[in-house]
Amino acid sequence: MHAHSLPSVSSAPTPTHCPYCALQCGMTLTPDASAEGVAVTGRAEFPVNRGALCGKGQSAAAVLSSGARLTTPLIRSAAGDLEPATWEAALDAIAGGLARTRDDHGADACAIFGGGGLTNEKAYALGKFARTVLRTSQIDYNGRFCMSSAAAAGQKAFGLDRGLPFPLEDIPRTGCVILVGSNLAETMPPALRYLTELKERGGKLIVIDPRRTRTADQADLHLAPRPGTDLALALGMLHLVVAEGRVDEEYVRDRTRGWETARAAVMAHWPEYVERVTGVPLPQLREAVRLFTEPEHAMVLTARGPEQQSKGTDTVGAWINLALATGRPGRPLSGYGCLTGQGNGQGGREHGQKADQLPGYRKLTDPAARAHVAGVWGVDPDSLPGPGRSAYELLDALGGDIRSLLLMGSNPVVSAPRAAHVEERLRSLDFLAVADVVLSETAELADVVLPVMQWAEETGTTTSLEGRVLLRRRALAPPPGVRSDLDVLRDLTTRLAPELEKGFPTDPEEVFDELRRASAGGPADYAGISYPRLARDEALHWPCPGTDHPGTPRLFLDRFETQDGRARFVPVAHRPAAEEPDTEYPLYLTTGRVVAQYQSGAQTRRVAELNKAAPGPFVELHPRLAARLGIAEGDAVTVTSRRGAAEAPARITATIRPDTVFMPFHWPGRGRANTLTNPALDPTSRMPEFKVCAVRLARATAG
Ligand code: SF4
Repeated sequence: MHAHSLPSVSSAPTPTHCPYCALQCGMTLTPDASAEGVAVTGRAEFPVNRGALCGKGQSAAAVLSSGARLTTPLIRSAAGDLEPATWEAALDAIAGGLARTRDDHGADACAIFGGGGLTNEKAYALGKFARTVLRTSQIDYNGRFCMSSAAAAGQKAFGLDRGLPFPLEDIPRTGCVILVGSNLAETMPPALRYLTELKERGGKLIVIDPRRTRTADQADLHLAPRPGTDLALALGMLHLVVAEGRVDEEYVRDRTRGWETARAAVMAHWPEYVERVTGVPLPQLREAVRLFTEPEHAMVLTARGPEQQSKGTDTVGAWINLALATGRPGRPLSGYGCLTGQGNGQGGREHGQKADQLPGYRKLTDPAARAHVAGVWGVDPDSLPGPGRSAYELLDALGGDIRSLLLMGSNPVVSAPRAAHVEERLRSLDFLAVADVVLSETAELADVVLPVMQWAEETGTTTSLEGRVLLRRRALAPPPGVRSDLDVLRDLTTRLAPELEKGFPTDPEEVFDELRRASAGGPADYAGISYPRLARDEALHWPCPGTDHPGTPRLFLDRFETQDGRARFVPVAHRPAAEEPDTEYPLYLTTGRVVAQYQSGAQTRRVAELNKAAPGPFVELHPRLAARLGIAEGDAVTVTSRRGAAEAPARITATIRPDTVFMPFHWPGRGRANTLTNPALDPTSRMPEFKVCAVRLARATAG
């Protein structure tokens, strides 16, 4: 038995964190007599949310007891129905399906798809399972859809990717924030107070978004570029910075490399050209430059807007260049950061479920990294496969050279681009197994479904958008019949490679302690972080290489993580989206979120009060466009792209550009926004272009 086993489920209040987004708000779960068995309250002493929770967090307990909760394994019968089965039968069926595929088609015909909501322990165990038990290179996860472009751009510029290299508490104390493609008011409302406090202290807020969102409403200056042109916007601003003599020459000389080449690329982007490409008037561009460069401290924060593009890495790179030329990164109360989306979006990409990575943010192609991790795992480094395909490429290969898939913590039928095609690929598999808490739209297609524990029922760690490692504690017992993902991986290992069974403990703390050893010396070093420390101290940011190391809330203050310690400018040029409007598809479609639903909605669509607040999809369009097409508020409209058609009621608002329509992506079926989206991939990050594609719009025909 491990020295620090799972806490027993007690009647005392349990401090923990929200199951949803990357803010990981602190909350307390107190057992009560309600149907959920616990009451949720915000935790005032946790510095990030200081007691505030959004509607999703407040209602998080409702999913625990939801009638939609899976409590027994399911196996597809000969008649084609999912029928209740025993755990033994379900695990035997999965092991049998994977082994058959491996024997008939080779190890790489088995694939794993994970999720950015899985705890660090699960993400770690999943990567280890893929590479040591299945010995497949084919593993990736839905975090690839979330912020991989910012990760790639951060790696290139700073030699390290951590969403925010400074804590959120620095935001109110800076002089100006440029928020690019982030709608905090809908995605993580408790974070909005950092912007409110910034303004109360006299700081300026610039929001860049094609829609005047509730976040943009707070801005001193809102720039609304055409979708897919924020790369040009950043270059136009940097051009003005140069032309107006606002470059921080000393910083550029002392702390960076590559400015001359980047500068040459920037100077080709004349402000008048940028005005034409983006639709943002030149005076607004000049005002943005003034607001950003005049204060002593300033920050650029990006989110899904610039990242989810076929040029997402370059777009984020252009914003980083602007921050570097003005001397921001690595200085107090200044810098560049990415607002990660999913609950464990940060930790999920550090510990090995990404196609090209090993734990500790090590590279699978690095011989020293392979040797270190193989040593911790007790396997031959040469037995570890190389990098596999990215998420969309993996999904696209299902039914081709990938014949079997094990999927945990993801619902690509709703969340993947070109979703009808992905659904068809999933159906074409020889074997599909899904572990989830509810029968998601993807689980509905599976041959075997496993009911697993969630959030409040098991202990584990997540890493928030600040790089802050947090302990989520077990607060109540799971429903009978439900097991942990860690149990599933151990039990499958017992069946597929019994000699490796000892390497798959089911105690999360034991898994975390191994993760610490595997990450030691790597870029995301967790060696000094332990469960007892996390239980005492909620401000342990990685890297934390020793048990007496205080953690690193602020990165890059002395040096960047490149070989010479200097940041790198990356020369970038504007290019159009993979699919621009034309006569057949004359409008831009951009997709995003609403406050009451989370990602594919697998959990939040099961919560009555969230459904009441956000009952279904809609198509947001400008009054001028609506008038031209004869569409009235609430009319059913059909949106068609080259990938398919979706239908939803019209929501007419002047807060969107007349050349653009918007759909939230949380729903399946006729209103599924991702039926329309373009899977064109960024060449570096392999991130699909969720934010821009070409569509046409019409009033839906009756029937
Ligand atoms: Fe949970 Fe995010 Fe809402 Fe906080 S903002 S309560 S972490 S969903």
